[in-house]
Amino acid sequence: MIKTDILIIGAGPTGLFAVFEAGLLKMKCHLIDALPQPGGQCTELYPKKPIYDIPGFPEILAGDLTKNLLEQCKQFEPGFTLGERADTIEKQEDGSFIVTTNKGTKHQAPVVAIAGGLGSFEPRKPLIANISYFEDKGVEYFIKDPEIYRNKRVVISGGGDSALDWTIYLADIASEVTLIHRRNEFRGALDSVDKVQELKNAGKINLVTPAEVINIVGDHKVEAVVVAQALNIEKEFEIECDHFIPLFGLSPKLGPIAKWGLEIEKNAIVVNNALDYQTNIPGIFAIGDVNTYPGKLKLILCGFHEATLMCQAAYQIINPGKRYVLKYTTVSGVDGFDGTRKEAPKQVVKAIE
Ligand SMILES: Cc1cc2nc3c(=O)[nH]c(=O)nc-3n(C[C@H](O)[C@H](O)[C@H](O)COP(=O)(O)OP(=O)(O)OC[C@H]3O[C@@H](n4cnc5c(N)ncnc54)[C@H](O)[C@@H]3O)c2cc1C
Repeated sequence: MIKTDILIIGAGPTGLFAVFEAGLLKMKCHLIDALPQPGGQCTELYPKKPIYDIPGFPEILAGDLTKNLLEQCKQFEPGFTLGERADTIEKQEDGSFIVTTNKGTKHQAPVVAIAGGLGSFEPRKPLIANISYFEDKGVEYFIKDPEIYRNKRVVISGGGDSALDWTIYLADIASEVTLIHRRNEFRGALDSVDKVQELKNAGKINLVTPAEVINIVGDHKVEAVVVAQALNIEKEFEIECDHFIPLFGLSPKLGPIAKWGLEIEKNAIVVNNALDYQTNIPGIFAIGDVNTYPGKLKLILCGFHEATLMCQAAYQIINPGKRYVLKYTTVSGVDGFDGTRKEAPKQVVKAIE
């Protein structure tokens, strides 16, 4: 049994920042994530994309943000159960919770913070009979490292931002990029649509619309895709390629958490945002993309704020009756659980000047 103060389900940016905020209040955290690495959407979906709305960082790659969050929280020695999905929760007589994963690992904590983002997310896959055979053999639903496409022939399909953005990005990296979409109109940002059109006019990418990939050809890896023109079903042709990347978005599913007795609205967990982001079950909080309340924005910085307030409330549950006085880190410094100490500067104001 793994025991901790706050059990965090989801090691995305919200969960990772919660570890830091909890650490400042001397509470220890353990994180469970279904993915094999921390970082949530930032690592899994867009590690090489720059984010422009993280306060204090005019521009930061999503993968670098994850690295920084891990660096920031490591002094508070979080535990990780990775590659396992939190499946069941049981309330104990002492008020604590036991959460068990799909692999049977048990965790116990007085506070559970669900930072599950979109849930255990699964890519929407195109209806191509043999597609699962080619997964990891040239078919990828996420782009983790664009470098693997250097000098390769790539076919992307989809009509949203991901398909457009990666077409633009890979145009400079891959030897050949073909974008296939079943409509003539794209759903993505207008400037991305314009850029894709420019690249097509300059002969840097191929654009095939309205069309669909209907089959994949290859012995042990992708060698070509079979494309059907939507307006002329009789017209099928092959495009030779090394990679086929269908980017049809994610199907967000709360998964097993939806059966935990929590109040759910439109696939998100309802929380009390006037107070502390607690759910209808006392002791269980929901922070970041996974929650909903009036005016909710699914942004990383909102998750950071929610994690901070959640930790204040968790402190009261874990230390009943104990008064907590907010201290600025510039004044108190940071005492890591690992014995490290970051001193507050002697003259804070002078240092800022
Ligand atoms: C392409 C793209 C671009 C974006 N750009 C921006 C941007 O510029 N600025 C911005 O602020 N936001 C941006 N976002 C949104 C941002 O990524 C999310 O708001 C953020 O990731 C939410 O963080 P989170 O920690 O709440 O959830 P997530 O990052 O979704 O992490 C949740 C984690 O919980 C895990 N999980 C879920 N259920 C379980 C379970 N039962 N058991 C175990 N693990 C579980 C998942 O595997 C996942 O790793 C973008 C999103 C995308 C897809």
